[in-house]
Amino acid sequence: MVKHIAILGSTGSIGKNALRVIESLNSSSVPSAKLRTSLGDALCEKEKSQYAIRDTHYEIVALSAHSSFELLAEQARRYKPKYVAITNTDYAHRLGELLGDMDVEILAGPDGLTEIAQLEEVDIVLTAVVGAVGLPAVLAAARKGKQLAIANKEPLVIAGELLVKEARENGCTIVPVDSEHSAIFQAMQAGSCQEVSKIILTASGGPFREVTVEDIQNVTLEQALSHPVWDMGPKITVDSATMMNKAFEIIEAHWLFDMPAESIEVLIHPESIVHSLVEFVDGSVIAQLGTPDMCVPIQYALTYPARVEGIAKHLRLEEIGSLTFERADMEKFRSLPLAYEVARTGGTTAVVFNAANEAAVQEFLAGRIKFVSIVELIEQCLNKHNVKRQVSLEELLEADAWARREVSEAAYSV
Ligand code: MG
Repeated sequence: MVKHIAILGSTGSIGKNALRVIESLNSSSVPSAKLRTSLGDALCEKEKSQYAIRDTHYEIVALSAHSSFELLAEQARRYKPKYVAITNTDYAHRLGELLGDMDVEILAGPDGLTEIAQLEEVDIVLTAVVGAVGLPAVLAAARKGKQLAIANKEPLVIAGELLVKEARENGCTIVPVDSEHSAIFQAMQAGSCQEVSKIILTASGGPFREVTVEDIQNVTLEQALSHPVWDMGPKITVDSATMMNKAFEIIEAHWLFDMPAESIEVLIHPESIVHSLVEFVDGSVIAQLGTPDMCVPIQYALTYPARVEGIAKHLRLEEIGSLTFERADMEKFRSLPLAYEVARTGGTTAVVFNAANEAAVQEFLAGRIKFVSIVELIEQCLNKHNVKRQVSLEELLEADAWARREVSEAAYSV
């Protein structure tokens, strides 16, 4: 079997890891072991179909980048896609020069993303495009009924309602790549949706887990940029320090798993080994554990529903010794109670929540506002917002622009 993949955002950290995963999937020799048939015919049928997936070759049809044209050109030479898209048109010409001798179509501008996301020959669209620029492409892939592997938060946070509706109507399967949501998705395979009573999202707690409510008032930019477990870009690291990333994950889970906000809990787990848990109606809790390595959720999104050998280091619990858990501090991390409110209110609140955060983090990284002002500005912005419901993508983007303006204006008066 051959599966054709388009990667939106192939030069970022998720994109690069996805290419490593695909290379390893294509190079691993398929074991000639006999199918196990111990648990009856039903399981045997499932195993047969999964065995076919293990035998899959993954062909890269399209790659995209925003402005890293040199790396994109390198990737194009190595993986030989039919299409490459560069969203920043300033670099299209130089990309063209680098790939002049190759048989590859170059698409420039944000529309190029949408074009590759809906190519007839593409089976799986993996999206890791930061910001709202990838949204039309993600919606287009859903409308075409592709398998959609979503790595960045924006599609589900900003356009969750719209995206899930399109996916449902057009037979599109959404497989999350965000580590917590991949964990929940995997744990959910243990029962039916109706049997789930609660989702428990784990969080490392970020660098300020042990800082008091008083001391968090005076934390510096440098302190906010040091994350204990995951090595990420500055924006995402600040989101982890404010716990806005977890706030977004509550909204993501709400749409992805059709769960009311009240049934989604946040649990602090500093070791980041249990990636999330699902509680079923009988009280059983199923968790997914593993070393913190994004290659695992990326690979699962590509091979789902099968599992194959991967490149991530295997977990050795005896080396870790103990796993700890604690309640999330809703007073210190105001982002969390805000997220529940946003999930309950719906409409355009989530897009405002996301855009206000992006604008406020920008102000913080530029040294113009204090750490605690990030969430204060978001809250002010949400309070001023007139919620609209049943909106189109255009109206979502209008609300996004409004929130950014509000926050940058308010930042000057802080
Ligand atoms: Mg996550």
